[in-house]
Amino acid sequence: MALGYVLDDVFVRHRPPGPHPERPERLVAVRDGLRAAGLEQRGHLVAVRAAREEELGRVHTAAYLADMSRYLPGKSGWLDPDTYFGPESWDAALAAAGATLDLTTAVLDGRFRRGLALVRPPGHHAEADRAMGFCLFNNAAVSAAAARAAGAARVAVVDWDVHHGNGTQNIFYDDPTVLYLSVHQYPFYPGTGAADEIGAGAGRGATVNVGLPAGCGDTEVLGAFDRVFVPALMDFRPDLVLISAGFDAHRADPLAGLRMTEAGYRAMAERLCWVADQVAGGRLVALLEGGYDLGALSRSLVEVLDVLDRPGPRDRRHHDGPREDAGPDDQPSREGRAAVERTLAAHRGQPWAEPPPGSLGPGESRPEA
Ligand SMILES: [Zn+2]
Repeated sequence: MALGYVLDDVFVRHRPPGPHPERPERLVAVRDGLRAAGLEQRGHLVAVRAAREEELGRVHTAAYLADMSRYLPGKSGWLDPDTYFGPESWDAALAAAGATLDLTTAVLDGRFRRGLALVRPPGHHAEADRAMGFCLFNNAAVSAAAARAAGAARVAVVDWDVHHGNGTQNIFYDDPTVLYLSVHQYPFYPGTGAADEIGAGAGRGATVNVGLPAGCGDTEVLGAFDRVFVPALMDFRPDLVLISAGFDAHRADPLAGLRMTEAGYRAMAERLCWVADQVAGGRLVALLEGGYDLGALSRSLVEVLDVLDRPGPRDRRHHDGPREDAGPDDQPSREGRAAVERTLAAHRGQPWAEPPPGSLGPGESRPEA
């Protein structure tokens, strides 16, 4: 079977104490939308299990795990002004991390070619030592670390949630074996994700941030993929591509100000599957992060499912490059181009960030039409 997926009612039982955008109805909408699109016929369900302490401990501190295991099970409360827990949140958080990890290692082993983890709570804001921004455990980081432990030499995490994944970035900031790439609204919550945050020490260059101002949409985001993410990924040659797949950059989302469409999500997934097919043996796992308009979330995920579910390149009649189903041909706005240029400038010296031969240098500019 080409596609493995995670979907379980334990993720519906993570309930806020009152009205909150990160609510159980999100997963119900995802479940109903994807089942209507034939998920159960198109993929193989992977059972959930609780992540073990040693698996979480690859990215979270022992003190944080001890505190969480003491305060969460069976109780309700708040870990910060945004981040709640309910009586079954502990089980949901352990299952989200454990199931995403299992799906990731199953893709690494070749049991599935692609994976889709439909989990909550989300994870990418969770730091090594604290919960944050609706996130309890960092599911993407736990899965990337599990892939490394299972023998992957290099793992890429592409974060297309509208918010910067501060937790994932910080956990791997000095690690050259995990490439973290994020496109997000900037400046915006959580405040991190500037172009000059590029990693540190041995990990210098392995963190790549494109921060787009509010109002940007598919054209600017896909411009970041074409100019930055795809070249950086091809250069890095990961053994596995993980996607921190939030859907809150959608134009209908109530929490943020980017203006993506379902077609944009499809086009991002196309590009990353193309990269995975080129350099990672097809291995790609997308896991759910944010996305707070129920209709936009469900429809965008159906588009992503369509891409992940597609046969491998050997089964296709022809295969030209990452731009099939490419999305809009509009030129990115001046602000979108400037954001990409800031990222390229911060990474100058990396082979993928050099200006193409014959183009103008960084100090020069083309006359505006
Ligand atoms: Zn988000």
